[in-house]
Amino acid sequence: MIFADRIADLRERCDEVRGAGHTVGLVPTMGFFHEGHLSLMRAARAHHDLVVTTIFVNPLQFGEGEDLESYPRDLAADTAAAEAEGVDVLFTPSVPEMYPEPTVTTVHVAGLTEGLCGAARPTHFDGVTTVVAKLFSIVGPCAAYFGRKDFQQLAVVRRMAADLDLPVEVVGCPVVREHDGVAMSSRNAYLSADERERARGLFAGLRAAAAVVENGERDAGRVRAAVQAEAERHGVRFEYAEVRRAADLAPIAALDGEVLVAVAAPIGQARLIDNVTMQIAGDEVSVDLGVITLATQESSS
Ligand code: AMP
Repeated sequence: MIFADRIADLRERCDEVRGAGHTVGLVPTMGFFHEGHLSLMRAARAHHDLVVTTIFVNPLQFGEGEDLESYPRDLAADTAAAEAEGVDVLFTPSVPEMYPEPTVTTVHVAGLTEGLCGAARPTHFDGVTTVVAKLFSIVGPCAAYFGRKDFQQLAVVRRMAADLDLPVEVVGCPVVREHDGVAMSSRNAYLSADERERARGLFAGLRAAAAVVENGERDAGRVRAAVQAEAERHGVRFEYAEVRRAADLAPIAALDGEVLVAVAAPIGQARLIDNVTMQIAGDEVSVDLGVITLATQESSS
């Protein structure tokens, strides 16, 4: 595995590889790897000649009072994990390398960024799209792998790439969950034992949504109520629990086609998000809750 912390070096390596007729797979992250991150590296490894993983805790996507300073970091463990997954280049730029001047140019995707996480984090997605656009520009033509755990982020990045004709195939990968269903997240590291127990309420709520839909419920309000009732039993109060059309995140009153149920909740110091997607055609319902892994947060990070 090659280490790069200079933009010019990463660009040169990617250009060389493509020049020789090979393909590049990109996995952008903020580090502190868990199985969710590793699943993206594996997907990229399976399809591309050169796998580039980036670790950059991007100040632009953190709002005031958020956890930029305390965001968990462990470069030694991340390096070993990336190496074990067969990553070819680990790109770990500094903040001045990525933003040598105060940033006056940002990328804004309208509409898609306004509800869900965008309501509580109004500058977050501009930070994400700006740094991801820079990474796409540095790496060049490639396929880029993102988790469906951050469903809104995936939709926003996909739309940015389409609208700006960026030569990048944006690939969405399944939500990876702990053995008890809690979605893996670097921020799970903030949770005490009690809070970790309570975090199960997010997944329980989403499972309740899937169950009522499988039993024939199609009213978005009642699906939402089912999510909330189940989460409350676990002591979870949502920042939001929403039922949206998956394709464009538009609010819907009745469930049909591909539907997203997305939730966010503060648990202790952490703000956790999760979602389930369902494909609904008449009585037929196919639920995608992602994949459960046996690895624990402790053993994978
Ligand atoms: P982060 O380091 O949190 O910015 O995440 C980097 C990438 O990993 C993003 O594309 C996330 O959607 C993805 N990711 C994070 N957690 C999970 C998870 N539990 N399952 C699948 N992908 C994930």
